Amino acid sequence: MARAIVVGAGILGAASAYRLAEAGLGVLVLEKEATFAQGSTGRSAAGVRVQFSEPLNILLSYHSILEYQGIPEAGYRPIGYLFLVPEALAGDQEEALRTQRSLGVPVERLTLGEAREKVPFREEGLAFATFGPMDGVMDPHGATAFYLREARRLGAEVRFSEPLLFAERRGGLWRVETPKGWYEAPFLLLCTGAWTGEVGKTLGLEIPIWPVRRMVFATAPAPFPHAFPLTVDLGTGFYLRSEGRRLLFGRSNPHEPPGFREGMDWAWLGPTLEAGLARFPFLEGLSLDRRASWWGYYEVTPDHNPILGFVGEGLLLAAGFSGHGVQQAAMVGRLLAEEVLFGRAKSLDITPFRLERFHRGSLIGERSIV
Ligand SMILES: Cc1cc2nc3c(=O)[nH]c(=O)nc-3n(C[C@H](O)[C@H](O)[C@H](O)COP(=O)(O)OP(=O)(O)OC[C@H]3O[C@@H](n4cnc5c(N)ncnc54)[C@H](O)[C@@H]3O)c2cc1C
Repeated sequence: MARAIVVGAGILGAASAYRLAEAGLGVLVLEKEATFAQGSTGRSAAGVRVQFSEPLNILLSYHSILEYQGIPEAGYRPIGYLFLVPEALAGDQEEALRTQRSLGVPVERLTLGEAREKVPFREEGLAFATFGPMDGVMDPHGATAFYLREARRLGAEVRFSEPLLFAERRGGLWRVETPKGWYEAPFLLLCTGAWTGEVGKTLGLEIPIWPVRRMVFATAPAPFPHAFPLTVDLGTGFYLRSEGRRLLFGRSNPHEPPGFREGMDWAWLGPTLEAGLARFPFLEGLSLDRRASWWGYYEVTPDHNPILGFVGEGLLLAAGFSGHGVQQAAMVGRLLAEEVLFGRAKSLDITPFRLERFHRGSLIGERSIV
C-alpha cells in the first residue's frame, strides 16, 4: 500500500512525487490523461523569475530556479526578465526591489536607456526598468519527465488514464476510487491544477481554484535577428520574448470568464496587439503564425497565489498558482514532502499561502502577477 497518493502528473505532482519517493515513502501517482504535462504545465510560456513583490513568491522561485539550473532536462536558459515600470507603479516596484535585494536575489534597476539596449520600446509613461539576470525560461515538459522518471526509479508507481472519481477518509486512510479500482493511503496530495475546484467537490470540499483561459501568440520567424528577454510592460501586462527566430507574446484578459472554455480566443488578439504596438512599434513588421499560437488554463485563486499544505486530515494541496506554477514547482515539491514527513514544511514558512488565509480574509497582495 502506498503511503501517499499524488493526484495529477503536471510539474507540481511530479516534483512532489519525486521528493516524497526520495524520502522513502511509497508513492502512487494518478493522472487522468494518457501521459504527463497535458494540463497547464504543457501550455505555459515557460518563464521563471525571482521578480515578485511577496517574499514567499520570491523565495519559492529563487530556490526552484537554483534546482532547475542543476537539472539538464529542465532546459533552463537565463534570458532574463525585463520589467518596464510605469510611473504609476514606480513606488510599488521600488519596494519590490528592496524586498528582492533584502532576500539576496539578483535584480538590477535599469535606466530606460539601458533597458532599450535589450529590446527596443517607446519610453512614454515609463519611469525605469528592472532586470533579473537569473530569470529566464525552462522546459516544463523536460522537468516534469525528469521528476517522474526519478520518482519511478525510487519506487513510485505512476498510473496514467486513471482519474480520481471519488475519495473519502475511512479509518485513518484516504480511499481513492478510479474507473479501474480503488487505492488507500494515509496521505492524499491534490496537484490537480485548474481542476482542483472540481476535484474538491468530489471530496465534499469548497476549494477556491478555477480555470481561466489564457492565450500565447506566436509570430512567424522574424526578418531580423533578436534575443529579447521576457519583457513585461507592467502598465498593460503585455509581454513578449524571443523563442528561436519567433517572438511569443501575450496579455491576460481581465474579462475572461472562469470556466473550461476551449480553443484560441482570436478576439483577444486585437486588444493584445493594441497594447503591444503602443509600446513595441517594431511588432508591426511581424506576421502572426496562428498554428504556432496556443491556449491553456491558468489555475486561479481569489488572490492569484497558490494554496499549499494541509487542508484536512491527511489531505494536502499544491495548486492554484494562477499562472506562475512552473517556476515554483521544484521548491514546492520539497516543502510538500516536508509537510507530509514532519507535519509542517520546514525549509520555508508557507503560512501565507495556506487555505485558511481566505477564511481569515488575509489575502496576498502580490503586485507582480502577469
Ligand atoms: C498560457 C499560459 C502561460 C503560462 N506561463 C507561465 C510561465 O511563464 N511561468 C510559470 O511559472 N507558469 C506559467 N503558467 C502557469 C503554469 O503552467 C501552471 O501554474 C503550472 O503548470 C501548474 O502546474 P500543475 O502541475 O499544478 O497543473 P497541471 O499542469 O494542470 O497539472 C494538473 C494535472 O492534474 C490532472 N488531473 C486533474 N484532475 C484529475 C483527476 N480527477 N484525476 C487525475 N488527474 C487529474 C490533469 O490532467 C493535469 O495533468 C502558464 C499557464 C498558461 C496556461
